[in-house]
Amino acid sequence: MSDQLKKYLSEDRSVRIESVDMHQTWQAAQAHHSYPPSVAALLGELVAASTLLAATLKFDGSLLLQLQGDGAIALMVVECRADMSIRATVKMRDRPLPIQRDIQSLLNPGGTAKFIVVLDPPKNTPGRQAYQGIVPLEGDSIAEALEQYMLRSEQLETRIWLAADAERCTGFLLQRLPLQGGNQQAEVLSADETWQRTQRLAETLTQKEMLEITQDTLLHRLFWEETLLAFDARPITWQCSCTRERVADMLKMLGHAEVQDILETQGKIEVACEFCGQPYLFDGVDSAMLFQPLAPGPGKSIH
Ligand SMILES: [Zn+2]
Repeated sequence: MSDQLKKYLSEDRSVRIESVDMHQTWQAAQAHHSYPPSVAALLGELVAASTLLAATLKFDGSLLLQLQGDGAIALMVVECRADMSIRATVKMRDRPLPIQRDIQSLLNPGGTAKFIVVLDPPKNTPGRQAYQGIVPLEGDSIAEALEQYMLRSEQLETRIWLAADAERCTGFLLQRLPLQGGNQQAEVLSADETWQRTQRLAETLTQKEMLEITQDTLLHRLFWEETLLAFDARPITWQCSCTRERVADMLKMLGHAEVQDILETQGKIEVACEFCGQPYLFDGVDSAMLFQPLAPGPGKSIH
């Protein structure tokens, strides 16, 4: 079965419910990397979180979640685009992992780590400007950090459960939706009640269950007594935007002398995409082609 994000609303439409389960996408994210298990688990949680959050937004650009650390992990970043394609990577510092492998020990031993949310509008948007929210990295988990961010920046009460291992990454979200104006008191009370009840049900979730049980079984177990309004499931895919041309452009920017230098010492140039880890190889001939002066074409004359 392909990776999916499922969306629901409570019967009174006051609570948003989302569930995500990824296998292939998560395998692709790890394909060319060998992250230590504790680092992979954190990345998996961030990957799941990015899809849950992106699905709550009415936005057709990219959502980026970034953890900037001052510990063994320097940077962890996930991009989720409007079509639910994602890419993700981790940059580690060259130092041993701490004894404790929790989020604060891995990312925030110096207390300066940041959690950054970027909403990047589509490339062709006039006056395109990214929105960026930065908060200190607080809490004992990615879920907690995100819950605090959503409350502080979006004024939305949100509860998030995340779990990841080498095989799967999964997540679950509850979000209280703002009531439209002019509500009867009874309606407000009922929305309060739904929010408390759905949270109580979901609070029984354990990470073990989330990794062992299928998405549908899990939802059924939690909400079998509830009437949920279901929306179309969204397929999730891994998609890196790297190409050989982009790597070639990067080498051109390095300059002929630098590239020649690497060739002389290593015999070839091997560049791996920082996101998917896909290796790109340039030998002496490839590199010489990069720096061939092109014959000026029409409209390309330089004055
Ligand atoms: Zn790539």
